[in-house]
Amino acid sequence: MIQLIDIKKAYHTEFDTLQVLKGVNLQVEKKEMVSIMGASGSGKSTLMNIIGLLDTYDSGTYLFDGKDMKELNNIQRSAYRSKNIGFVFQAANLISYKNVLENVALPLFYQDVPKKERERLAMEKLEPLGLANWAKHFPNELSGGQRQRVAIARALIADAPLLLADEPTGQLDSKTTNEVMQIFKDINQKGTTIIIVTHEEDIAAQTQRTIRIVDGLIQ
Ligand code: ADP
Ligand code: MG
Repeated sequence: MIQLIDIKKAYHTEFDTLQVLKGVNLQVEKKEMVSIMGASGSGKSTLMNIIGLLDTYDSGTYLFDGKDMKELNNIQRSAYRSKNIGFVFQAANLISYKNVLENVALPLFYQDVPKKERERLAMEKLEPLGLANWAKHFPNELSGGQRQRVAIARALIADAPLLLADEPTGQLDSKTTNEVMQIFKDINQKGTTIIIVTHEEDIAAQTQRTIRIVDGLIQ
């Protein structure tokens, strides 16, 4: 599904250049659930943002389902992203003045799905996550674990085949972490490919394969 060939990425500041990715080669197959580990600052988020088409790379090749991502212009890239990739971050990043249902439905607004249909689909994602009764509540009325589940529902709303999660349990206690990991496993069982960044070995151990990034390269 995902193939990265010799991907390089540097950040430039006024005074120097930080070469974060030094030639990353990586392949993730459809329906895999893999973890990415590495020290803080090793480039995990940079790599995820490239895979998620949120950021560009300097050189190398990124193929998604065999299609070269270099060929997409900005508009095509964001359309391709909304169709194919869901994101969960460390913080749920919910919109505080929208209720749970509206937050989950939001990505469909940008895909011009009518309101009634958006809300129906959002409810469909909330139910299996145990959030149906929270649909009309606002983010500040939820626990951290519930908020992260809402973020997962939002990431799933477009039925994208790839789910990227960048330290999704970083702010959760261990009980809630296990609940969230179980949700990811269930989603993966139903066929969604999942890549999870974590710095906890026991989370990585729950995935099928761990990719380690050291000094800008995959080990
Ligand atoms: P990780 O997620 O593994 O902690 P990141 O990919 O966030 O690492 O960052 C890798 C390195 O690149 C870090 O040293 C970080 O400070 C730097 N970095 C990340 N984003 C930027 C940016 N937009 N501009 C400059 N430096 C950045
Ligand atoms: Mg990071």
